Amino acid sequence: MPDTLRRAIDAIEPEMIETRHHLHQNPELSFQEEKTAALVAERLGQLGLTVQTGVGGHGVVATLQGARPGRTLAIRADMDALPIQEQSRLPYCSRQPGVMHACGHDGHTTILLGTAKTLAALRGEMAGNVRFIFQPAEEVVGGAHRMCEAGVMDGVDAVIALHGWPQIGLGQIGVRSGAMMASAETFEIRIQGQGAHAAYPHLSVDPIVVGAQVVTALQTLVSRETDPNDPVVVTVGQFHAGTAYNIIPGTAHLAGTVRTLSNETRRSMPDRIRRVVEGVCAAARASCEFAYHEGTPPVMNDPGINNLIAEVGRETLGEENVLTIPHPSMGAEDFAVYLDYAPGAMFRLGLGETAPIHTPTFDFEDRALRVGVELFCRVALRFLDDPASKR
Ligand SMILES: [Zn+2]
Ligand SMILES: [Zn+2]
Repeated sequence: MPDTLRRAIDAIEPEMIETRHHLHQNPELSFQEEKTAALVAERLGQLGLTVQTGVGGHGVVATLQGARPGRTLAIRADMDALPIQEQSRLPYCSRQPGVMHACGHDGHTTILLGTAKTLAALRGEMAGNVRFIFQPAEEVVGGAHRMCEAGVMDGVDAVIALHGWPQIGLGQIGVRSGAMMASAETFEIRIQGQGAHAAYPHLSVDPIVVGAQVVTALQTLVSRETDPNDPVVVTVGQFHAGTAYNIIPGTAHLAGTVRTLSNETRRSMPDRIRRVVEGVCAAARASCEFAYHEGTPPVMNDPGINNLIAEVGRETLGEENVLTIPHPSMGAEDFAVYLDYAPGAMFRLGLGETAPIHTPTFDFEDRALRVGVELFCRVALRFLDDPASKR
């Protein structure tokens, strides 16, 4: 099987590189992935799959049914690009001013298309189904919720995904059991004070001074309320107030993000933050409005599925090329949402020497495409073959 598989991937590699370059040249922002989705739908249709389009926005889904019944594995790719002006001399540099595939979702989409093509040819030997999920709007954390609400995880037994990763060598992958990426949620605070002349502070309730105390007090949630072994990040990234140096303004607006690695801590954060914000404001005679916006949970990789990926990775790439990711990242990834519906795992696909993701010179490594396809295919075949592979 592996040799047949490799030959099949060899055969489609040039086409995949071409597809990836085309996507890289034509990036689309979150919720605007119209042309990308059309390309994906067309390619899946050519494989004889029944394709659903417009799922949760511009999402595309198709299920490959094997010759015999069995379990269903979902594989997810994301399709959106970022609002970054590309700074490269690549012949396939972005043609969209200010929009760029700086997170490698062009690579993810191409890999999943290559996987669909490769597995479709093996349909006759397959027991069970593989569902290909092409998701819009990962970067703004919204696509996954919509896809899942539209039912793409119905009947799915497990779900996998990958993310290209520059800090990992080409031909290597990074795996991790348990928490891998953090939850990400946002909050907004509007402090209502009392404006006054800057020279008469006693006539004011200064929302800048109150806001400064709020920012400081919020940090004690991290340093004094939550377990140091259970990481939390509270970042106030916006603080807007005032119009002139000699006027105490009436209001201040703050906004920030909260990251956690456990759902228990995640659920506790809105109340904790509200208590601190309201308490500090009350102590200073200010009033406040507080809003907390639910985002994405932490990515909690299922140990069984993670082991399956690691095992297949060691067989395919060699023992030394499957790295264990030492620490979870406090960055977020909305793949986490799928994990609320079925066990699964995400792994990092090594891209070798390339600029960091989300920077203007990043590029997905073409040579990593085939590695991603082979791993997806082999994990899928192993999962469908072996009902006990979830060990
Ligand atoms: Zn990204
Ligand atoms: Zn990404």
